[in-house]
Amino acid sequence: MTDGYDVEVKLLAVTGPPPATESPPEEDANRLASPEELIEYAGRLCWDSTAKLGTTPDRIQKWIEMGHESVIEHASATFYIRASRTLTHELVRHRTASYSQRSQRYVKETKPSYITPPELDAAAPDALAVFESAMQHAWSFYQQLLDLGVKPEIARYVLPNACESQIVMTMNFRELRHFIKLRTSKRALPEMRAVAGRIREIMKVQAPKSFEDM
Ligand SMILES: Cc1cc2nc3c(=O)[nH]c(=O)nc-3n(C[C@H](O)[C@H](O)[C@H](O)COP(=O)(O)OP(=O)(O)OC[C@H]3O[C@@H](n4cnc5c(N)ncnc54)[C@H](O)[C@@H]3O)c2cc1C
Repeated sequence: MTDGYDVEVKLLAVTGPPPATESPPEEDANRLASPEELIEYAGRLCWDSTAKLGTTPDRIQKWIEMGHESVIEHASATFYIRASRTLTHELVRHRTASYSQRSQRYVKETKPSYITPPELDAAAPDALAVFESAMQHAWSFYQQLLDLGVKPEIARYVLPNACESQIVMTMNFRELRHFIKLRTSKRALPEMRAVAGRIREIMKVQAPKSFEDM
C-alpha cells in the first residue's frame, strides 16, 4: 500500500559490477563496485582524472548542477510495477525507457483485479459503491464475451482503466530524475505520485549521490 493506493513497486536490478566470471576488467574498471562509481569513472574519463575516483563526494551532484547530465545515463535501474492501466498508459509516455507489460491480448483477465482510487471515498458518500458496481459489470460483460467465444484481445475492450496491470520498466538515472521530477509534482495523477514517490525513495538509497537533491 503506497499513499493509500494498493500498488507495488519493486527494484529488480540496478547497474553493478561485471560478473566475476567475466574476463578481468582493466585496473580502473575493477574498482567500479556501484552504479555511482561507474558514473564517476565515466565523468572523470572526460578530464583524464580517473585516478581521483572517490575523492570528491559531491562530484556527481556538481556535474548534474552544471548540466553535464549525460554521465548519469551510464547507470540504470529496473523496476517491477503493479498498478492500474491508467497509470501504465501515462508511464509509457516516457520514451527513453524500456517496458515489458502483461498482455491483455494473450492473458485472460478472468479475475476482477483493479485499483480503487482512495479519493473516491472522499468525493461523495456513494462514489465507492458506484465504482464497485461499474467494476463488477465490466468483468461480468468481459466474461460473457469470452463465453461467447470472443478472443481476449477483443473482449478486453469492455475492461476499465482501473484494471490492474504489471509492467517491468528500465530507465537510466537521467530519465529517472526527469520522471521523478514530473511525476511527484502535485499536478501529477495521485496514483502516479504514489509510484514515483516510492521509486524516489528507492533511488535515494541505491544511488544517493545522484538523487539526494530530489
Ligand atoms: C502533470 C502532467 C500532465 C500531463 N498531461 C498530459 C495531457 O493532458 N495530454 C498528454 O498527451 N500528455 C500529458 N502529459 C504527458 C507529457 O506531455 C509527456 O508526454 C510525458 O510527461 C513524458 O515526458 P517528456 O515528454 O518530458 O519526456 P520523456 O519521454 O520522458 O523524455 C525525456 C526527455 O527527453 C527529451 N526527448 C524525448 N523525446 C524527444 C523528442 N522526440 N524530441 C525532443 N526531445 C525529446 C526531452 O527533453 C524529454 O523531456 C502530462 C504529464 C504531466 C507530468
